[in-house]
Amino acid sequence: MNKPSGIYDVAVIGAGAAGSMAAIRAARLKKIVILVERNRVLGKKILLTGNGRCNLTNTASIEMFLKKFKPNGEFYRTAFSRFSNNDLMDFFRGCGVELKVEERGRVLPITDKAASVTDVLEKCLRESGVETAYGRRVISLVKKENIFELGFTDRAAIYAKKVIIATGGGSYKATGSTGDGFVIAGRFGHTVTGLKPALVPLKTRDSFAACLQGLSFTGARITIHDGGKKNISDCGDILFTHFGLSGPLVLDISGDVAALLLTRSEVKITIDFCPDIKREELEKELTVAIDSRGNTRIKNLIGAIVPKRMAPVFLSRLNIDAQKKSGQINKKERSAIVDNLKALPFTISGSLPLDEGMVTAGGISSKEINPRTMESKIIPGIFFVGEVIEPRGLSGGYNLQQAFSTGYLAGESCAASGAGVTD
Ligand SMILES: Cc1cc2nc3c(=O)[nH]c(=O)nc-3n(C[C@H](O)[C@H](O)[C@H](O)COP(=O)(O)OP(=O)(O)OC[C@H]3O[C@@H](n4cnc5c(N)ncnc54)[C@H](O)[C@@H]3O)c2cc1C
Repeated sequence: MNKPSGIYDVAVIGAGAAGSMAAIRAARLKKIVILVERNRVLGKKILLTGNGRCNLTNTASIEMFLKKFKPNGEFYRTAFSRFSNNDLMDFFRGCGVELKVEERGRVLPITDKAASVTDVLEKCLRESGVETAYGRRVISLVKKENIFELGFTDRAAIYAKKVIIATGGGSYKATGSTGDGFVIAGRFGHTVTGLKPALVPLKTRDSFAACLQGLSFTGARITIHDGGKKNISDCGDILFTHFGLSGPLVLDISGDVAALLLTRSEVKITIDFCPDIKREELEKELTVAIDSRGNTRIKNLIGAIVPKRMAPVFLSRLNIDAQKKSGQINKKERSAIVDNLKALPFTISGSLPLDEGMVTAGGISSKEINPRTMESKIIPGIFFVGEVIEPRGLSGGYNLQQAFSTGYLAGESCAASGAGVTD
């Protein structure tokens, strides 16, 4: 690789989804690019995604995509427009990876193997002429007369005209994302908004969840009670665990709960196990069932509404004898059953730690990044891509698409601001 005067056009720090795509895009636009990664391989985190199957994007519309990001999804409009979910699917299909769509529009490789995705990135990096420097951790970044110097503890510095910071968030540290990008950007005066776990399981105070460990419930709705305010979720799936609650729906609301837990010791939530039916209708239906099946044990009647294993635990929480015949259930007990099927209260005492969040909430403030290019508004020549940026997405393939889209946009922006660029 020829390096004019030893200075690369673009140095990308971090070879996850965002950094790899940024490097590929800039190199395809004829820039001389080096991709620096602290691990000896690229995409360690990608290999964990979707339980090793990699849910790489979603079929949702762009408007839906923007709604899936907090605090301000609108920030990604240009990135998602410039390199959309369809563009990403075309990119992988063009490289020979067949894709499939599963429930809730989740897109995965047909192989069910995340390695299909990392293999393609590796191949595209090679073919587009990106120089890779694996096993090298950047510890400092300095700007001297419009040239950036990337420093290492044990190796010579690397010089580049533009730098793309793609170091990821601060969770699953074993994959290499230990938050270095926040430190590097912070030294240049960037604001790093409060880092907390998102897409993280939640701990509950009582033993209800522990009694149901391993049980999943499909199609519930969660309400977060924030003083007088109620934050109501979409419908989704819950998994009961030995410490509390997990599953896609819980992971999706966990960022909001973790934010509230920063200022209080517990958060109240309620779970609606019958979100498709109004309370009055549910009470009517239960009354009819009780009247017509008075000899049936109440646990069996309730076991037709919630999973069988859950019914006795649910009734015991209401101090109702699960062995009782339905006909023996009085009006007050019937009312309590209906109330709690519609809003079973849980007290959330915390979340699992930041390292166990599938994504990090918080990061480089989006106010300091130009959304049309991903370039820093504070230090020209520095670009941010992927999870290092503050707004984070819900589960369903949105976060990887964000990494690929912002990476693509930054790679292109870097290239466009130099001379002699062709697409
Ligand atoms: C268990 C799990 C499952 C997930 N499943 C999904 C899913 O199915 N779908 C989805 O959309 N999202 C999923 N996510 C989230 C998604 O993986 C991330 O949001 C996404 O990978 C972020 O990509 P990134 O390129 O920004 O960062 P990362 O993938 O974290 O990559 C950052 C890279 O930078 C390197 N690096 C860091 N510091 C330095 C340094 N100083 N010098 C050199 N290199 C450095 C790291 O080693 C790392 O390789 C999941 C996350 C986890 C943890």
